[in-house]
Amino acid sequence: MSQVTEEQIIEALRRVNDPAKGQDIVSLGIISGMVVKDGNVGFAMEIDPARASEMEPVRNAAEQAVDQIPGVLSVTAVLTAHNDSPAPQQAAPPDQQRPQRELVPGVKHIVAVASGKGGVGKSTTAVNIALGLAAAGHRVGILDADIYGPSLPRMMGITGRPEGGDGKKLSPMENYGIKVMSMGFLVPEDTPMIWRGPMVMSALQQMMRDVEWGELDVMIVDMPPGTGDAQLSLSQDVPLAGAVIVSTPQDIALLDARKGLNMFRKVEVPVFGIVENMSYFACPHCGERTDIFSHGGARTEAEELGTDFLGEIPLDIQIRETSDSGEPIVISQPDSPHTKAYRAIADKIWDKLAAGEQQRTMPNIVMQ
Ligand code: ADP
Repeated sequence: MSQVTEEQIIEALRRVNDPAKGQDIVSLGIISGMVVKDGNVGFAMEIDPARASEMEPVRNAAEQAVDQIPGVLSVTAVLTAHNDSPAPQQAAPPDQQRPQRELVPGVKHIVAVASGKGGVGKSTTAVNIALGLAAAGHRVGILDADIYGPSLPRMMGITGRPEGGDGKKLSPMENYGIKVMSMGFLVPEDTPMIWRGPMVMSALQQMMRDVEWGELDVMIVDMPPGTGDAQLSLSQDVPLAGAVIVSTPQDIALLDARKGLNMFRKVEVPVFGIVENMSYFACPHCGERTDIFSHGGARTEAEELGTDFLGEIPLDIQIRETSDSGEPIVISQPDSPHTKAYRAIADKIWDKLAAGEQQRTMPNIVMQ
């Protein structure tokens, strides 16, 4: 079998156009992090996050173009936000109020899953962590605060609308044993949403306060990507027990993860640690791992920043296919090594929540 080369792939990608820009995706310089391993190909396309849905067909076309090269066994192309993307929202007015614990009274702990930029796999990670927590026996809800591009309905395989309204609280949707609320249930996916900072907050407050969440051990909040003012005010206004930062190795190299960490520190929310996503390339055929970018940066970066390294998840086509088809890997492949990795991360988060609670409730014992 002939070896597939990077040059052949680039040549194939030159035939794929970004229609809005009238140029091919190689000339536009958006291809990054290419890895070719025994006919299995992975790469990222760096785009403006506002164009994510418009670029999905281009991503598809790129995969198909590469797939046609003789000798190619699999192709995984992911859309990721280019690094100089502006924050997609405007500033929220300063809000001096401290977190209102009564916002969701039945919920014991709220944990934010955040990222320095879009496309790093934040929602995929949030969903699989939530399912990992549920698999460990906890009562879990997940709130899609990424209201610029709500992807939870699709990832959780839920369609339809929540019932309630007219003065009554909305019932959250539910699948795989966890409760889910997303702006995506209330607004059709293709509606352009121009949210300003204050509107983000009021939409979120509604999704917390006006939804019948019931008793939950943990609520995972899938944050909007980035570290702009809306994210800052969200971290300030929601009574978070802690935050988890999802990063790719490139993202770490470019220090985007650090911005996320600093944002939470600014509002005194404990950062539980960093998850390195798309950490290495797992060959879909032989399972062999190939390091991409500068894998392992998260561990060092976490150490330098004085936070924990929670785990690493590879770039694997099965993770993409399962999350994009509404059957996340923790549900569809409960015994896979990736599921074990997600569950181990979920366990670490739970330990940190339990430790925090103990600290709050422990009486002060004075030895005389
Ligand atoms: P974000 O929330 O950061 O914008 P998503 O979770 O929506 O990112 O992921 C972006 C795309 O990358 C999705 O198509 C998702 O299925 C895919 N993806 C996420 N993590 C992985 C991974 N570890 N391996 C392969 N594909 C992944």
